Amino acid sequence: MASLKWSELTTKDFARLDKDEMLVILPIGSMEQHGPHLPVSTDAIGVNTVVEILNEKNLDVNYLVLPTLWCSKSNEHLEFPGTIFLRRETFTRVLEDIAASITRAGFKKLVVLNWHGGNVDLLSCLARDIRQQFDLLTFIIDCYRILSYKPDWAQPHHYNIHAGRDETSVILAVRPDLVKPPNEWGAGSDFGHGKMADSFKGYKHVIPEGGSVSMGWVTVDLTDDGVVGDPSGASREEGQANLEHVAARICEILPEIASFSF
Ligand SMILES: [Zn+2]
Repeated sequence: MASLKWSELTTKDFARLDKDEMLVILPIGSMEQHGPHLPVSTDAIGVNTVVEILNEKNLDVNYLVLPTLWCSKSNEHLEFPGTIFLRRETFTRVLEDIAASITRAGFKKLVVLNWHGGNVDLLSCLARDIRQQFDLLTFIIDCYRILSYKPDWAQPHHYNIHAGRDETSVILAVRPDLVKPPNEWGAGSDFGHGKMADSFKGYKHVIPEGGSVSMGWVTVDLTDDGVVGDPSGASREEGQANLEHVAARICEILPEIASFSF
């Protein structure tokens, strides 16, 4: 087993690697508002911690981890200060240029380890384009969907996609020093706040996420304070369990990707 960091290798090291079998992992975070109580780097902290846990598991998979992309497509949060995002065109070019360089170095499989939900649709699209353009097989693992998917998203307190209980627990587990005290936690959304407060009530299919219909909501449609979900009940223990849950799932996924051939 070998888990290596791309940034620590030399040209000689790269020459020696078996590039046919070695996976290249690109972790993606974001720099975006996470309500009044969590740091703007929450997504990067989450994905970096998952990578650390994976490295401790000593998987029987050889992989090379790139430095985390700290900025991604978070334009849904632009009304809130602290958010820095890449536009769709920029994000596309960044990913394509990274993929081109990975291909040039001789690697055959790219695994994108993404934490930020707003990247998912574009990443799926890009995975196909990268496959066609560079013949680099690209797999998208969406950490945050593994973490926060609940079967009944339209119900109150189940709609927990941003700075809610799951992410608050994660940051409490990893960087409690960066979480504001509970009396400063965001109020939560539950469709009762934001520009579209109450608009979704009574609908079965027209909901912002997780239903049969997609729509282009932005964060201020769903919340006043940047929290979409409900952070109350978050705990350090739950955060540790959340992270272990995501890492365990990825431990199942990576061997399948490593052995996948056609
Ligand atoms: Zn987040």
